[in-house]
Amino acid sequence: MEPTIIDGKAIAAQIKEEVRLEVEKERAAGREVTLAVILVGDDPASAVYVRNKKKACETVGIRSLSLELPADTDTETLLSHVRELNDRKDVDGILVQLPLPAQIDEQKVLRAIDPMKDVDGFHPVNVGLLAIGEPQVVSCTPAGVIELLVRSGVEIAGKEAVVVGRSNIVGKPMAHLLLQRNATVTIAHSRTKDLKEVVKRADIVVAAVGKPRMITSEYIKEGAAVIDVGINRDAETGKLCGDVDFDDVAPVCSAITPVPGGVGPMTIAMLMKNCLELSRIRQR
Ligand code: NDP
Repeated sequence: MEPTIIDGKAIAAQIKEEVRLEVEKERAAGREVTLAVILVGDDPASAVYVRNKKKACETVGIRSLSLELPADTDTETLLSHVRELNDRKDVDGILVQLPLPAQIDEQKVLRAIDPMKDVDGFHPVNVGLLAIGEPQVVSCTPAGVIELLVRSGVEIAGKEAVVVGRSNIVGKPMAHLLLQRNATVTIAHSRTKDLKEVVKRADIVVAAVGKPRMITSEYIKEGAAVIDVGINRDAETGKLCGDVDFDDVAPVCSAITPVPGGVGPMTIAMLMKNCLELSRIRQR
């Protein structure tokens, strides 16, 4: 049977359109939804990410403020900017583009963001709320994976889900979100024994490893849904590829995300959704 190819680009566009309509309603009620983005230094990849985020803001009608600081900015200076944005009533979401230059204490900066403006969902308060099953803002990539599953009609409750990868920004929040939706969740990582057997139990596989095409058909149970979070550069062709060997896995699974065009576009769409949500939470 042909698998469903989950179209992340189309689903992300749908979400952005939903956000745009809601942002319009906010504006009609006299409220301007605003995202502040801080970029430190001149890392070209970070500059592209920030540009894309600003573009998405324009698409959905969110006002974006940007603060570009020199590469030699110290932790205290950055903290003072974050505090200023925390205090501003007209700012709903604050995003500090990562990675930060080495001299900056990244954790200290992320923890200084007001949890009510923490649009990336990285603050320990938001991580803790997710862990107790009362999420407020959730890390954008795993939140996007849930949207992909739900909007593609993949049932989650009661299913075996295996998340490969346990990072704080993808693997762990992913596992919590699946658990919240009543999947039976296993988190696998680099020290997992018999990884193939563990992943083969899954009805839903989420690969967030960072290893090009590591997950082959040998890891996949017939009919599983496979979500590929990985964004890797193929060493030979230089092209983008995921953690899943798409051509090998597609014939055995029921649904699969491509790379590019799967999870990638969802991250920014969820960022927009988070910003809108934060503006609403602050009004309550
Ligand atoms: P990290 O490097 O932080 O985490 C990778 C995880 O994979 C770790 O938990 C690690 O285990 C595990 N791992 C590494 N090698 C193996 C292995 N051989 N077998 C089993 N587990 C292994 O990566 P991220 O979570 O930040 O990102 C993962 C991937 O997702 C990357 O390709 C990244 O580019 C992509 N990504 C995509 C996003 C998007 O928007 N689509 C957003 C964020 C990330 P251990 O903990 O034991 O070291």
